[in-house]
Amino acid sequence: MRCLTKCLLVLAGLVVAVPAAVAEDKFVTIGTGGQTGVYYVVGQSICKLVNRGTKTHNIKCTAPSTGGSVANLNAIRAGEQDMGVAQSDWQYHAYNGTDKFSDAGANKALRAVFSVHQEPFTVIARTDSGIKTFDDLKGKRVNVGNPGSGQRGTMEVLMAAKGWSMDDFKLASELKSAEQAQALCDNKVDAIVFTVGHPNGSIQEATTSCDAIIVPVTGSAVHKLVSENAYYAKAKIPGGMYKGSDSDVETFGVGATFVSSTNSDTDTIYTVVAAVFDNFDRFKRLHPAFANLDPKAMTKNNLSAPLHDGAAKYFKEKGMM
Ligand code: GLU
Repeated sequence: MRCLTKCLLVLAGLVVAVPAAVAEDKFVTIGTGGQTGVYYVVGQSICKLVNRGTKTHNIKCTAPSTGGSVANLNAIRAGEQDMGVAQSDWQYHAYNGTDKFSDAGANKALRAVFSVHQEPFTVIARTDSGIKTFDDLKGKRVNVGNPGSGQRGTMEVLMAAKGWSMDDFKLASELKSAEQAQALCDNKVDAIVFTVGHPNGSIQEATTSCDAIIVPVTGSAVHKLVSENAYYAKAKIPGGMYKGSDSDVETFGVGATFVSSTNSDTDTIYTVVAAVFDNFDRFKRLHPAFANLDPKAMTKNNLSAPLHDGAAKYFKEKGMM
């Protein structure tokens, strides 16, 4: 009897102690890329800034490593990821249901949030392989990238433009971006490709651990791709950035973009966008590839899917668009 009274009192106390409306944490995920790339830092940096305000908005953000652009766009479509980083070419194709996405069809729910850094299509070759231009890759051992990565897709587009198939290589390996610098320096492959912002840890690893050069990617096929598609542009990898490459190297490239879908509500995306742009100087300092980011350009450059309502709301409020 005594216990019953006591227990009831304790229970009553517990009930009173629970506030009427506890806002539940909302978990959101950002798909990135390999751990030595820049996408991983984009996602980690955005989450870091978002999570500083979890007490206010209850959003908890995580940014796991993934297979890259195409994997992220597929995961967003399937509702497995809320947001992700993706190359401008693959954002375009996912929204329009073209190229790699022709079987899946157009994803009209895809939304652009903002663009990030430029990503030159980067080919690195062992100096002892004798490779000096993209065309020299024929007959060599080349890491064409893991399926799901942006570089694998863009490599396939360039190969198709040149009329090449995988059989034109002595070996076409499918290592992930985080594995390829070591494979190059262990002499398992002659060259690697990576569509990535510069400078980055992966290319730094390749050019400091062994003798390797950045190979130019130019010529009529590249020129045609760039002039026919708005999501490509001519690009340069600045000389002096990496050991062994003192002069600028010409190539073509895409833009990294941050995307979501209509599955994410306006408030969530507004909160994420505000976390980045309210703290822009802090964001920019989180990776050297962010050094040239211009907030106004980020609201429109390289975006082919419509802007997410939450992003548009923030940019309008701040007079950025
Ligand atoms: N552009 C690459 C991709 O789409 C990823 C680059 C990075 O990891 O920074 O897969």
